[in-house]
Amino acid sequence: MSGPLSRVDRLLQEKWGVQSLDRRIIQSHQLEALNQRLRQYHGAGIPGYPQQINGLEALSDLPIMDPAKLAVLTPSVLGISQRWVAKISTLKTSGTTGPSKRLFFSRGDLEETRHFFQAGMQEVIGPGDVVLIAMPGVREESLAGLICGALFTFGARGIVLPANLCIDAACRYGASHGVTKAIAAPNFLLGLLRYAKSRRIPLAINGAILSSDHCHPVVVQRLQEEQGCRCFNHYAMMETGCAGAVECGSHQGMHIWEGGLLLEVVDPCTLNPLPDGVQGELLITTLVRQIQPLLRYRTGDLGRMTHHPCSCGGATARLWDVIRAEGQCTFGKWNGILFGDAQVVDYEVTQKNGELKIKIITIAGWIEKSTADALREVAPGGGITLCSIQGNDRLIGGKQRVTDEKALAASLK
Ligand SMILES: [Zn+2]
Repeated sequence: MSGPLSRVDRLLQEKWGVQSLDRRIIQSHQLEALNQRLRQYHGAGIPGYPQQINGLEALSDLPIMDPAKLAVLTPSVLGISQRWVAKISTLKTSGTTGPSKRLFFSRGDLEETRHFFQAGMQEVIGPGDVVLIAMPGVREESLAGLICGALFTFGARGIVLPANLCIDAACRYGASHGVTKAIAAPNFLLGLLRYAKSRRIPLAINGAILSSDHCHPVVVQRLQEEQGCRCFNHYAMMETGCAGAVECGSHQGMHIWEGGLLLEVVDPCTLNPLPDGVQGELLITTLVRQIQPLLRYRTGDLGRMTHHPCSCGGATARLWDVIRAEGQCTFGKWNGILFGDAQVVDYEVTQKNGELKIKIITIAGWIEKSTADALREVAPGGGITLCSIQGNDRLIGGKQRVTDEKALAASLK
């Protein structure tokens, strides 16, 4: 099914003042921006970077940047005055003792993100919509501010869901503001809508941008068919200033914001580039970040890419099948089994000495027999507990779905 031209393509056409895009135009803009970033690195005396390259085919000769490098890549290293820094984000790292990784953004960097949001959100959000912003990462005020600012430019309004609300209060909060759309993690949104329906809370969300989580196709299908919520996947990370890629109405992969990002897929072991369609690790090069540009930065995320035109007519490269480095790689398939059951609102997995315990939070204390059978197959011998959701429960919905007690005990020693 083909839809209207991707908003990401429209954004770049407008920015570059062209009637239509093709790979040649995109690559020539990317090369020019990349060479500006290379000159920054070269000028700062960072070893391994030439002053420029003559074509994007030479990209794979440049060094690959490990996330640990972020700790030393401060604006002063690149010879940039602190007064250009408009925002600093600290990256949470799981269980490491190394220095914290700080991300620096200029006002211009934040403005680029806002432009991407403004374009990408209009795939599903329009004037008059009230948008529930319900993502764990959006607690950070400046990001919520950017989203709300982007919504405001086309006549929509953002409502940020306060952190730590219990499920009943969260549903009533959304309903009382008359929300019509959402920007949310997929599992969280489905749990919220199922609970609201079961308690007859009038939370009517008919479209969503799904972000910040592993997005299982079954969860998307249930959101669309069971809850009547049109879903558009979005991929981004803090390092890209939260701008990244978003699906168009054709739903054949997420159109990459190629004006600001250059994505590569490489073999995670050899780090050699992989052809279109093959799953590998995503490397990002930020083309327009001014004060902390990243070149061939390892994300740890896996995905597939294509440079072929989309049926919407878009020429920007597309990304799909993304598996986030943090999150639900191992247990991703469980999302399909559990959320495929309309009774399930949330779940939690505990792994202790190799033994699995699965706590399933349901509408009314039961699950379909087919769900129980499927669970026994993927987790033979795993202990299953069923609970009914209580109004004062909070959804995990986000990323901490697996609690490994052994690892936890080790980290406390
Ligand atoms: Zn498209």
